[in-house]
Amino acid sequence: MFSSQINQVAICRTPYKQKFGIPRQPGLVDVKGYVELTGELNNLDAVRGIEQYSHIWLLFCFHENLEQGWKTTVRPPRLGGNEKLGVFATRSTFRPNGIGQSVVKLHGVVELKGKVCLEISGMDLLDGTPIIDIKPYIPFSDAIENAIGGIAQRAPELIEVKYSIKALEQINELMQKQQYSELKSLISAVLSQDPRPAYKKAKEDAKIYQVALYDLDILWQVTDEVITVMELKPTSV
Ligand code: SAM
Repeated sequence: MFSSQINQVAICRTPYKQKFGIPRQPGLVDVKGYVELTGELNNLDAVRGIEQYSHIWLLFCFHENLEQGWKTTVRPPRLGGNEKLGVFATRSTFRPNGIGQSVVKLHGVVELKGKVCLEISGMDLLDGTPIIDIKPYIPFSDAIENAIGGIAQRAPELIEVKYSIKALEQINELMQKQQYSELKSLISAVLSQDPRPAYKKAKEDAKIYQVALYDLDILWQVTDEVITVMELKPTSV
């Protein structure tokens, strides 16, 4: 038994405003975000020298799931929700201490509105996620050649993403206004991961789904294994 208090050191700012649709692992969608240092750590000294690394580890709290607790076994979505594995044999977000970890690309250190921030990309974190530690990624030790990935040996297969005329017009208008310069590539990259739960993929599915990116809800549907973006709306999240 040990006792220790773990405090937030930073907060992650990302375009992902709800859990549904966030890539299931880091490195799958190349979009920018920020790690904003908080409290006494909002100090350039805390990150002095970090720019010499191309990638960093973020340790964070799955804060949106803490209240729901955890179980010793879980049903990983990759296995269609039919098979149980031990919680420690998965990357489930429902864990005894609710801790997640992700390797992300580091672009640099910037100061935004008086906050020291790390500019990053490739994160799989909800906007507002509390970061509890930051460490450099060290390739000679952290990258393991020929490692075996169990049920997650390969990245998930991508699905084709198309756009309705209405959605394309909306996106062009937003991009012309210099808002969201990465919007179309972000929507395509997020949806090509096919965020639907595995059991839905097996069935005919007429549902209209929605993911929240920045302050927009993106509405989409699946027909014949192709995702079509129908329209964009101001977010309700
Ligand atoms: N890098 C993670 C880890 O620690 O193993 C990846 C696994 S987890 C399956 C990734 C998912 O966590 C995302 O797709 C998103 O739905 C969820 N997630 C991200 N940030 C979260 C947060 N703050 N609270 C709860 N769930 C979150």
